[in-house]
Amino acid sequence: MVLVCNFNIFSQFCQMSLAKYLIVHYHELGLKGNNKDFFVKKLVKTLRDRLNSEFSLTHSVKHSIGRIYIPLEEGVDEEAYARVVGRIFGIRYFGFYFAGDLDVEKLGAQIFENLPDLDAVATFRVKCKRSQLYPLNSSQVERELGAILLRTGIDKKVKMEAADLVVQVEIFNEMAFFSFKRYEGAGGLPVASGGRLLSLISTGIDSPVASYLMMRRGAKVYFVHFHSYPYTDEVEVENVKKLVKILCDFGVSAKLYLIPLTKIQETIAKTLEIPAKYRVVLYRRMMIRLSEMVARKVKAKGLITGDSFGQVASQTTENMYAIREAASLPIYSPLIAFDKEDVVNVAEKIGTFEISRLPCKDTCAMFSPKHPVLDANPYDVRELEKFLDIDGLLVEAYEGVEILDF
Ligand code: ATP
Ligand code: MG
Repeated sequence: MVLVCNFNIFSQFCQMSLAKYLIVHYHELGLKGNNKDFFVKKLVKTLRDRLNSEFSLTHSVKHSIGRIYIPLEEGVDEEAYARVVGRIFGIRYFGFYFAGDLDVEKLGAQIFENLPDLDAVATFRVKCKRSQLYPLNSSQVERELGAILLRTGIDKKVKMEAADLVVQVEIFNEMAFFSFKRYEGAGGLPVASGGRLLSLISTGIDSPVASYLMMRRGAKVYFVHFHSYPYTDEVEVENVKKLVKILCDFGVSAKLYLIPLTKIQETIAKTLEIPAKYRVVLYRRMMIRLSEMVARKVKAKGLITGDSFGQVASQTTENMYAIREAASLPIYSPLIAFDKEDVVNVAEKIGTFEISRLPCKDTCAMFSPKHPVLDANPYDVRELEKFLDIDGLLVEAYEGVEILDF
């Protein structure tokens, strides 16, 4: 139960257990003009929905002066809350705060009473953010509270940079709050605040990270995966499902379209007029066309790929041009200039790496030569496509689609 206290009698009644709040800060500077209200409303709604469903409770989520605050029931598992909130996009940092007294002397005493274990702490500082209405400015509050803690007996040195313990103080809405730990948020923009995109996801390391980065910018992302069953095995599709599930844990729902590319690949491979070295480029163009068919269905206004410049044969300037020429929608490839190491770091952080690193039969490797063309051009490729019934192949492949909800 939340303790609701009149602040004048606060310290007498609430000394033993102060009410606790989750306070969330978003990237205010990144949000401009009227957009800000829109983004903040999205974030408030996402927080409310996620917390209510994760903890089967009704949370009151309020916005005030650049932060969002949520009263917590007594004794909640803060680390469990941190795991959920840490995966919500649009948050810069957050923390679990005690509600304290507006009077600096009383506030200092409350902070002292609630200090965490200080065994591993040699230095400390107080950091304050306060609303303009408060009579003291931030550095005055910091100095006064620091002095009170020293006077009361904290017995640690003050250090302004990289102190072991940072006492975070927030004064707003005629209330004061303090906390001893700052949690970094996932950053980005609130879930589904942007438009809808369709991500071409494989079991590799790159495409799940590319999807994540676009989701983080607020895109509502749907997924399409091409398999070459029975040449690729069921493990491949199972791994894609696991990857989509991990991505959806960032608080979104999505659909995964599974489309067999088998017949298209077989047909391209047995068309003698098409040199083997062009197969991958032709497969990729067919993937793009099929993705656009899905995009039309789900009303996505762009595609996402995990392409990284120069990484594999299909990612030379010439081949990128030859492949993308088949597209009419814009293609977003946020990893285009990433080093693999940087991609791996993100994959590890978001939890997709363990699945992506597993050896897997790759769809595009099917019927592919060891040395694919590196400098395809759209004119030659279009000539080669004349040997295929493109529309017939697309329709047939699309008929084999399987749609899964996440
Ligand atoms: P990753 O798929 O993680 O990029 P990769 O580097 O082996 O691993 P590439 O061959 O570089 O894959 O493919 C470039 C991009 O094409 C992928 O990032 C992905 O967006 C898309 N793609 C490749 N194979 C598939 C597939 N079977 N289904 C859907 N999209 C695919
Ligand atoms: Mg790649």
